[in-house]
Amino acid sequence: HRRIVLAARPHGLPTTQDFRLDHAPLPSPGEGEVLLRTLYLSLDPYMRNLMDEAGTEYAPGLELGQPMMGGTVSRVVSSRHAGFQPGELVLGSAGWQDYAVAAGDTLTTLGDLAQPSLALGGLGMTGFTAYVGLLDIGQPQPGETVVVAAATGAVGAVVGQIARLKGARVVGIAGGPDKCRHAVEELGFDACLDHRAPDLAGRLAAACPDGIDVYFENVGGAVLDAVLPSLNHHARVPVCGLVAHYNDDAPPPGPDRRPQLMAAVLQKRIRMQGFVILDHYADRFAAFREDMQAWLDAGRIILREDRVEGLENAPAAFIGLLQGRNLGKLVVRVAAD
Ligand code: NDP
Repeated sequence: HRRIVLAARPHGLPTTQDFRLDHAPLPSPGEGEVLLRTLYLSLDPYMRNLMDEAGTEYAPGLELGQPMMGGTVSRVVSSRHAGFQPGELVLGSAGWQDYAVAAGDTLTTLGDLAQPSLALGGLGMTGFTAYVGLLDIGQPQPGETVVVAAATGAVGAVVGQIARLKGARVVGIAGGPDKCRHAVEELGFDACLDHRAPDLAGRLAAACPDGIDVYFENVGGAVLDAVLPSLNHHARVPVCGLVAHYNDDAPPPGPDRRPQLMAAVLQKRIRMQGFVILDHYADRFAAFREDMQAWLDAGRIILREDRVEGLENAPAAFIGLLQGRNLGKLVVRVAAD
């Protein structure tokens, strides 16, 4: 079966040479394990961090030659675990490969989801990240202004739509006029600004005449610089991701702006809080699923997926994700459901 392994550690933006498609014998499940056929593979920015030796705080870096990690929707082919039957759909972490063996205890049964790939996006990890970060940490109040970057991406699009449902005014920041149009016309944001056009800080100040009460941080970099002057007293900043920095090989050039950042945090009594979504499943996932399903059924949230066909196209799609080529949650269809 085919699998995509880490061939080299990237310097800056990964290239397709950093990945290698190879073939491995089909693994067979031991006691308590199941053999899985991958149907959908989730592509997410954190995978860039796992390509570095250091990895992240919550997952070690991959070894060279190891298959790329990733969340998957798979079909059970054969099972040596009493809880799983052949043919069932499950959510797991089979990685960038056609087949995988997994311990049954690491899998979640999906039942009859109308669109199984949503279990990787809006009804799964990225939607849940938006929900916890916005509601538990951002705590937007009716009439407040919420700003979210990567606004049309998997997390950002859900953040903005939930914030609207809670009565906030929502301003997105996204790469390019097409994404901004999508945010306003389809996702229902009040405004959306292109971070590639000049004077983001000035345009943001104009679009947020009452200042910013919640800034949902997905990117860092120049976007954070532009947001900082418009943050209100007692603003909340859920720190979800810093995708503008994942390809950094060295600290950014230019003057050290930490003093301004810390002075703003201090003087404006800003609350910045990082979170890692893995910590929140036990307490909050059930509430999220119930709310999100109700919003979806009522047509109050739309979940857009950016679907790529074929495992062999995963590396190029992943590189595109880090450059903003995706619109919505990026998934690879590895095999037909
Ligand atoms: P997205 O679908 O939003 O894709 C990434 C997007 O980032 C791109 O489409 C691009 O959008 C934007 N981007 C990339 N580089 C830059 C840059 N230099 N400046 C501004 N924007 C940039 O990905 P996700 O929704 O999956 O993830 C969003 C963030 O959430 C990431 O930082 C991710 O690491 C984080 N995350 C954190 C979790 C946690 O537990 N804390 C869990 C899940 C995700 P555009 O074209 O609009 O610039």
